[in-house]
Amino acid sequence: MEFGDDYISYDEYLTSCKETKEALKLPKKEFCDFEFSPYKNNFLQIFTFYEEALQSLVEFGISPAYLYLSPYFSINARARIHENKYIVNVNIGILKWIVEEFYLNEKLKNNSQFVKLKSLSINRLFGSAAAMFTIYHEIGHLVQNSKFLESNLEEIPKKVKQFAIERHILEIDADLFSSLCISEHLLYYAHTIYGKEVSTKKLELMIVLFTIPFIIYLLSFEGNKQDIYFEEKTHPHPAIRLLAMITSIVTQCNLFLISHNRTPLNQKGCFVQSVLEAEKLQDVFFEDNRVTWFKLRTNFYQTKIQQYLVKILELKIGNASMAVPKWHTMHNSINNKK
Ligand SMILES: [Zn+2]
Repeated sequence: MEFGDDYISYDEYLTSCKETKEALKLPKKEFCDFEFSPYKNNFLQIFTFYEEALQSLVEFGISPAYLYLSPYFSINARARIHENKYIVNVNIGILKWIVEEFYLNEKLKNNSQFVKLKSLSINRLFGSAAAMFTIYHEIGHLVQNSKFLESNLEEIPKKVKQFAIERHILEIDADLFSSLCISEHLLYYAHTIYGKEVSTKKLELMIVLFTIPFIIYLLSFEGNKQDIYFEEKTHPHPAIRLLAMITSIVTQCNLFLISHNRTPLNQKGCFVQSVLEAEKLQDVFFEDNRVTWFKLRTNFYQTKIQQYLVKILELKIGNASMAVPKWHTMHNSINNKK
């Protein structure tokens, strides 16, 4: 399953909306109608991927699972459980942002920093990686099945919510779940592009390319104007989230490299490299130098960032509602069957 030219028609999208509307007893106004949007095909492409991703993971005990797009332009997504139904709801604003920032970004298209990866355009790769990040993060929340899911696990809460360490733990766990799913796509892309010649260097480039969109994404929204913080807000600071994700992706890639007798990658090195490459592209995405600022602040606080992440990861251990151990259990049982 990859982002491709295969996607559902608008009529099929409407049928999906109708089924979800009836199953969840929601009003029609909660469903996005984008028939006349210039981005219609991009939206259908992302929706198709989202729906397939969600249905491919129902074996994690999240069945029946429903996905729908809301007609709101704010950047937000949420996961919830209602009457034993698992629900992911994404505002069309996120899809619009992904399409404009990545898929159709002319400045990015004309940037020669990265050589074209055979048939794959950078615009498409960045757009797909950003889109994956959102859906797998939300699915991660469903898999957690935490007590927070009964209300609404909102990515950008409307009201300022108080800090709760449990929530930070859930957010990092959802990011890590997302990273595990994304790593599989990354390795698939690497295999498609390079075949058997996937070297350490080439995989490092793939990791950098996949993580630049996360940096752009996280720095575009909540928390981007704030200096590094730790025990505050619902979500950890982007620097902490990014470090967690890159560490996880590199770990998965290293398993691959080691099994192919290749030199493993250094986690910190990949983090630094991704931020440096994102910095070179900041004019493409921002009018200010926020990636430079992020790089400097991250560097200044690096020990504290690492310590906070370690604290979160230690608190995660033994917590029943975590998605990452469920992912590993599932994959171990799949590998044992092979
Ligand atoms: Zn979340």
